[in-house]
Amino acid sequence: MPEGDTIFRAARTLHTALAGRVVTRFESVLPALLRVDIAGRTVERVRAIGKHLLIDFSGGLTLRTHMRMNGMWHLYRAGERWRRPRDDMRIAIATDAFVAVAFNVPVAELLDERALDRQPELRALGPDILAPDFDPAAVLPRIRERNADEIGNILLNQRVVAGIGNIWKSESLFAARVHPFRAAGELDDATIINVVKAAWKLMRASASPDGRQRTSVYSRGGQPCRRCGTRIESRKQGPDARLTWWCPKCQR
Ligand SMILES: [Zn+2]
Repeated sequence: MPEGDTIFRAARTLHTALAGRVVTRFESVLPALLRVDIAGRTVERVRAIGKHLLIDFSGGLTLRTHMRMNGMWHLYRAGERWRRPRDDMRIAIATDAFVAVAFNVPVAELLDERALDRQPELRALGPDILAPDFDPAAVLPRIRERNADEIGNILLNQRVVAGIGNIWKSESLFAARVHPFRAAGELDDATIINVVKAAWKLMRASASPDGRQRTSVYSRGGQPCRRCGTRIESRKQGPDARLTWWCPKCQR
C-alpha cells in the first residue's frame, strides 16, 4: 500500500506537470465521474492529504482518489506508450502536453467545495504528517486516547496521524528504539513524541525530490540488524495482520 510520502511525491509530480493546464479530454470507466464535464476546466492544484490524492479543477470541483492496495497514478507525455494495460485504466486526464492516468484506483469521487468540506474520510483524518505545519506534540493526546492499543497499530490509524503506512511504522519504531508490540500506556510522553518525530523525519526525507533511503528493519526479517547485528524479527500485528519488523535487542 502506498504511504503518505509516496502519494506526496506523486501529487508533486502531477502538480508540476498539470497545474495551470486545460483538460482537453477526460476519460473514466467509473460512471459517477462522467456526470460532470471536466474537459475544458483548468487543473488548479494537485495535492496529497494523508494517503488521499486530490486534484482541484477550476469551477470549484475536486477529484479525490485513494490508492488502497494497488492503485497508482502515472504521468505520460502526450502520445507516450502506457506502462500498464489499458484494462487497468480507471481515469485519464489529458492536457496538451501530458496525460495523467489512474490505474486500478478503487476509490474516486468528484466533489464540489461543500462536499469536499464534508467528506467523511478526510474529516476523520488526524494531523497530516507531511503538512508544512505538522506538530508532533499534537499527536500525543490522540495516541493517549488509545493507551491500551499497541503502538505499532496506533501508528497505522489514520485518525491518529495521517500518512504513516507499514514501512514507516516499522522504521520509526526502530529509530526510536521502541518495541512495536508495547501498549502506548506503557510508554512515557517523551518516548511517544520521539516515535512520531522519527516517522516525521524519515517521511520528510523520503518525500523530498531525491527521496528513497535504505530501510533498517522493514522487509529485512532474518537479516542482521544494521546497528547491533541481531537477527531482525517479524510478526503479524493488529486487526489487519500487517507484518511488523523489529530488532529484539535494540527495541525492548
Ligand atoms: Zn539491533
